[in-house]
Amino acid sequence: MKLHEYQSKQILAQYGVPIPNGDIASTPTEARAIAERLGKPVVIKSQVLVGGRGKAGGIRLAQTPDEAEEIADRILGMDIKGLTVKKVLVDEAADIDAEIYLGAVLDRSARKVAIMASSEGGIEIEEVAAQTPEKIITIHVHPLLGLQGYQARQLAYGIGLPKEHIQAFTKIAQSLYQAFVENDASLAEINPLIISADNQLEAVDGKILLDDSALPRHARLTAMRDPDEDSPTEIDAREAGLSYIDLDGEIGCMVNGAGLAMATMDIIKLYGGNPANFLDIGGGAGAEKVLSALRIILRDDRVKAVLINIFGGITRCDEVAKGIVEAINTLHVRVPFVVRLVGVNEDEGRQILADSNLVTANSLSEAVQMVVAAVKGERK
Ligand code: GDP
Ligand code: MN
Repeated sequence: MKLHEYQSKQILAQYGVPIPNGDIASTPTEARAIAERLGKPVVIKSQVLVGGRGKAGGIRLAQTPDEAEEIADRILGMDIKGLTVKKVLVDEAADIDAEIYLGAVLDRSARKVAIMASSEGGIEIEEVAAQTPEKIITIHVHPLLGLQGYQARQLAYGIGLPKEHIQAFTKIAQSLYQAFVENDASLAEINPLIISADNQLEAVDGKILLDDSALPRHARLTAMRDPDEDSPTEIDAREAGLSYIDLDGEIGCMVNGAGLAMATMDIIKLYGGNPANFLDIGGGAGAEKVLSALRIILRDDRVKAVLINIFGGITRCDEVAKGIVEAINTLHVRVPFVVRLVGVNEDEGRQILADSNLVTANSLSEAVQMVVAAVKGERK
């Protein structure tokens, strides 16, 4: 689960990370009132669950309450990377001398939390990692000892932080780590952590991702969930017991098993196609679940063909075939289906499909080639 910037910064502040004064507004009038109360130039920041808001025009400075109202009016309702802005954060504007990156992330291969810092803050860390990886300093935290002072200093020296800031930086890094652990985060990031013109360190942006599996023990955090985080389709899929994630391509995928679903997406890419979604119907899915899955896939207008890849085990091929036929008979099917069906009750499944004039592919690579060709308008 993703938290908004203002939620993330509030949590970090509770652990002692300095953040700017500010408040959240849903209307231009509220934004003006906050700016009046702060009595200083402010920054109006769109609260949407994506990065790169600055570049997208979702972050603007305002000198006066009038301007704050005007800019909030412009930003509220704006579309940023497909998300509508419903709230803005109105923060006291910072006077920035330098932007630092500081983040905590779970490093599964090391089985430890990694803390990363870079002098190249402000821009997305993925960009820094791709272009100047030597500018990212990483240390791993011992789970029993916690983040040690010498490790925080190692980060500070590594990024060339002026000596006068090392004590404050150490405290911020330790607070970040503590917030990460106590809230069961999978990522906690301050980007940028700034050095202000009056020589203070301050978290201007904050981002926290929470581990969904740990949410049941954090009622307060669960209540912070923004339903806009998931698309309506993703919400329906969750209710139908399907693991579904929207993607950008044109081949709708219905697969049983998360590993097989990922492999299927890789093979689609290998043959030059693009998956429209990740969808795992899970083990032992019956005809009804198959029908819900296809209903969800077909709802997406971008889908130009559907690939069904089933490796029958607990899931029986005849049940899946029944669901497919049911879908074809009851839903508005406007795109070709390609089916690959192997495993338990495969022959029965193929027969059911054949009776409805549906062809099954003989292998996964054949199926993928057929579906990619179908999307490109070629026959195969
Ligand atoms: P993001 O683009 O979604 O990561 O949003 P950020 O909150 O990180 O803001 C992007 C950039 O806008 C920052 O790196 C800063 O350069 C700039 N910015 C954000 N807040 C302020 C502010 O209060 N004052 C100034 N001068 N610049 C800011
Ligand atoms: Mn940022």
